[in-house]
Amino acid sequence: MYVFSSIASLQNDLRQGNTNVKDLVQSALSSIQEKKHLNVFLETFNESALKQADLVDAKIKAGTAGKLAGVLVALKDNICYKNHKVSASSKILENFTSLYSSTVVERLLAQDAIIIGRTNCDEFAMGSSNENSAFGKTLNPVNEATVTGGSSGGSAAAVAAGLCHVALGSDTGGSIRQPASFCGVVGLKPTYGRVSRWGLIAYASSFDQIGPLTKTIDDAALVLEVIAGADEFDSTVSSKPVSEYTKHTASNKKIKIAYIKDCLDSEALDPTIKNKVTQTIEKLKQQGYTVDGVDFKELEYLVPTYYVLTTAEASSNLGRFGGVPYGYRSKNATDLESTFKKSRTEGFGKEVQRRIMLGTFVLSAGYYDAYYAKAQQVRRIVRDKTLAIFKDYDIIITPSTPGVAFAHGANSADPIKMYLEDIYTVQANIAGIPAISIPAGVNENNMPFGLQLMAAPFQEEVLLASAKLMADLN
Ligand code: GLN
Repeated sequence: MYVFSSIASLQNDLRQGNTNVKDLVQSALSSIQEKKHLNVFLETFNESALKQADLVDAKIKAGTAGKLAGVLVALKDNICYKNHKVSASSKILENFTSLYSSTVVERLLAQDAIIIGRTNCDEFAMGSSNENSAFGKTLNPVNEATVTGGSSGGSAAAVAAGLCHVALGSDTGGSIRQPASFCGVVGLKPTYGRVSRWGLIAYASSFDQIGPLTKTIDDAALVLEVIAGADEFDSTVSSKPVSEYTKHTASNKKIKIAYIKDCLDSEALDPTIKNKVTQTIEKLKQQGYTVDGVDFKELEYLVPTYYVLTTAEASSNLGRFGGVPYGYRSKNATDLESTFKKSRTEGFGKEVQRRIMLGTFVLSAGYYDAYYAKAQQVRRIVRDKTLAIFKDYDIIITPSTPGVAFAHGANSADPIKMYLEDIYTVQANIAGIPAISIPAGVNENNMPFGLQLMAAPFQEEVLLASAKLMADLN
């Protein structure tokens, strides 16, 4: 069986004829079958993947193949691919078929990637453990007794278990980076507006971004290069030119690094992770880098701000699921109102219902100013203070998560505890800046954890180059 290490070496092996795309697809499909108990994939796209494999094999022979020729990509189950099912891991969209493809899928296919299937996630991308899926939890391939993280848990697990080469996820508050950290892979959340959201099932539209989960930083750079850039279907996407990120990952520039003292002082932080981040800081200093601790007193407001604003946006975005134009319709409904009520009550899971109610509450006439408007003001302060750090520094480093992957069910009884999983990741979404989680090590039980790097808006080049620098220190 072909052992995948990076997209660059895969491309080389394909050109040399050491393997071919059809074999890669067939062996991935049988591995996914063998690992079915992990519940990583909700569905594999056998027919379209095998058909595309033949086309790409022919292009490789003819020397006309694209940048991602033969790369097997898994899609989080909230990214649309025309004529294929997509459900956001919700009963309300079970058996729904996409009428069009997302921009990211169009761009991957244009570069000859193969879409191998759709991965399990938390329902409507709401969660930190993948336990909120209507189709069962996903097991972490590193240790099956633990969660994968979420909400792009299936995507992280697919890459970690070698069931695909790359996966796409979406990140609203950490949903790419937190599962990347739990499963020991690389997860990149681009700047808000770097990648089109066209064809992504919306959770909180001013936070959501699509990004890659990969084995290596260079692979993440290459996938970003392909999926990023202007798109007439998403007016929030920037028309800034997309750089050839892969060419800049080896920059020698002496970057200046800040670490947020409040993050390292947090009581919730696992001591092993704290030690590792502290060691990284020391090593960087020894190598002559400027590394300074900065204050960020707003840390304690990040999670509340995130949950006020995202639930507000979700309550509006999910208003469209009423059992009428598409999606689940209750059999017990007798008139229009009961169609809405019963379809939504039976179709949405508990966590999604909780968030719709919270969001409706914070937007309601009597509470709008106290919650929603206030949280918008805090968002502005967080963005301004975060950007102020980038006046003096290129990169901010923090742990990706306070701990390693936890046991199934461990946080289920306490939503606040689950929400605090996002303490380090939500800053990047609130501020709209790019962030990456890279594997930083394992604890005494061999459970992986990540180091998070954040950069100023549209500084993905600096982010990726710095990530490589930090990975080399390890
Ligand atoms: N864990 C966070 C939440 O539950 C992040 C979700 C996400 O980024 N989609 O909202």
